[in-house]
Amino acid sequence: MSRLVNCPHCGAECAFGAENPWRPFCSERCRLIDLGAWASESYRVPVGEEPDPGGVEPL
Ligand SMILES: [Zn+2]
Repeated sequence: MSRLVNCPHCGAECAFGAENPWRPFCSERCRLIDLGAWASESYRVPVGEEPDPGGVEPL
C-alpha cells in the first residue's frame, strides 16, 4: 500500500510509491509543468555537468 500525497502542482491526491513514477506529482504533465517553471532554462545544461550554484554568467 502506498500512502497518498497531494500533487504540489494541482493538489490532486496521488500515490507516493513505486507505481507512480512522477511522485510526488500526480502525472507526468504536472511534473513537467512544475519543474519547467524553474528548470526551463536549465535544459541546455549538459547532463553530468552541474550548473554554477548562484553563478551569474557574464553576457
Ligand atoms: Zn497534479
